[in-house]
Amino acid sequence: MVQKAYPFSATEIPTRSPFSKGGVLFINQVVAPRVSPLLSPPFFKGGRGGISRAAFVILLVFLLTLGGCDQRPQIYQQQVLALGTLVDISLYGVDEETAAKAVTAVTNKMEAIHHNWHAWQPGKLTHINQQLAAGNTVSLSPEQQQLIQTGIELAQQSGDLFNPAAGKLIALWGFHSDERANTPPPADADISALVSAAPKMSELTLTGNQLSSANPAVMIDVGGYAKGYAVDQAIAELRRMGVNNAIVNAGGDLRAIGSKSGRPWRIGIRHPRQAGVIASLETRDDESIFTSGDYERYFEYQGQRFHHIIDPRSGRPAQGTSSVTILQRDASSADAAATAIFIAGPKRWRETARTMGIAEVMLIDTAGTIHMTEAMNQRVHLEIDAQTKTIVVP
Ligand code: ADP
Ligand code: MG
Repeated sequence: MVQKAYPFSATEIPTRSPFSKGGVLFINQVVAPRVSPLLSPPFFKGGRGGISRAAFVILLVFLLTLGGCDQRPQIYQQQVLALGTLVDISLYGVDEETAAKAVTAVTNKMEAIHHNWHAWQPGKLTHINQQLAAGNTVSLSPEQQQLIQTGIELAQQSGDLFNPAAGKLIALWGFHSDERANTPPPADADISALVSAAPKMSELTLTGNQLSSANPAVMIDVGGYAKGYAVDQAIAELRRMGVNNAIVNAGGDLRAIGSKSGRPWRIGIRHPRQAGVIASLETRDDESIFTSGDYERYFEYQGQRFHHIIDPRSGRPAQGTSSVTILQRDASSADAAATAIFIAGPKRWRETARTMGIAEVMLIDTAGTIHMTEAMNQRVHLEIDAQTKTIVVP
């Protein structure tokens, strides 16, 4: 059964406390060491028990500290419930009062985005979708304009592999619900009908604040980039409040700005199939790290797993990829690119990364092979055994 209660991506919260690795002491995981049992069930995703629950955290965030114990970082960390997941906010070098205010402001901002863009709970987005389906023109707020315009551009850059207009397909697969039961996948005829209807973002016309669609099959679902957008907005809010050293980590997808007393933030990228870290890296001033994974949200039927990243060409869950991690400045495009490159798959991913202007990519295919750009290879420290095959391309 799918355990995820909301349309935004989230990952399991790490439970390990300070530990040492490779001779360097990592302390202060950004996330709290324990999640309240009351909060935990709806915010985890993945299948029942086993590795999916225990191991599938995409990212662990560590704050690198000095060897000496006395030099405690002035770090303010808080875990809040927003975007339907647990968001970890870490601030460095601010007083507690400012930090508390900043956390509240960021939480409010993210929650507003979550509600405004919810894929199925009646609200602003469902209203827009109803109007478009009825062939009407709808007036947008500046924020709606911005997010939809961004979606149009990202879809175009991805050759429509990233297709937020394909909401009907996502809904057909049952992912427009808090819990997708392990019932059969949709009928072939229904899938083919939607693939033939071929809804695309390019069929939207946005003139000023007026939006219309040439195709009634268009149904906007921003689940593939709204978390990135919300993280970008959160960082902008922090900067407005004078916070320049921070991480906003929304369930394993994050943007990190500044540093911790001149030392870079250290990020661990989780292995998609095992407990533990597959790679780690240090961020440079302002960078986002976003991952799309086949373990994020899925259901199982007759021994087969059906995940939530849908290839608009087949109308079915994309094949061949386990996870894609993107390193990129802004979180919205990192989020969208992770989804698009996941769909492009182990054979075509490089091309999609290029058209989307993404230099740093790591894709792990379903056979466990790691595919990376040379630029990503330069940035990551891999934590793999001798059996793991890696392919680095320019
Ligand atoms: P996660 O971070 O949870 O792994 P992604 O960022 O890859 O997720 O986004 C997955 C979500 O994006 C789905 O739940 C759905 O709402 C939406 N989605 C699925 N397929 C596509 C697609 N081809 N294009 C755009 N959005 C998609
Ligand atoms: Mg995404």
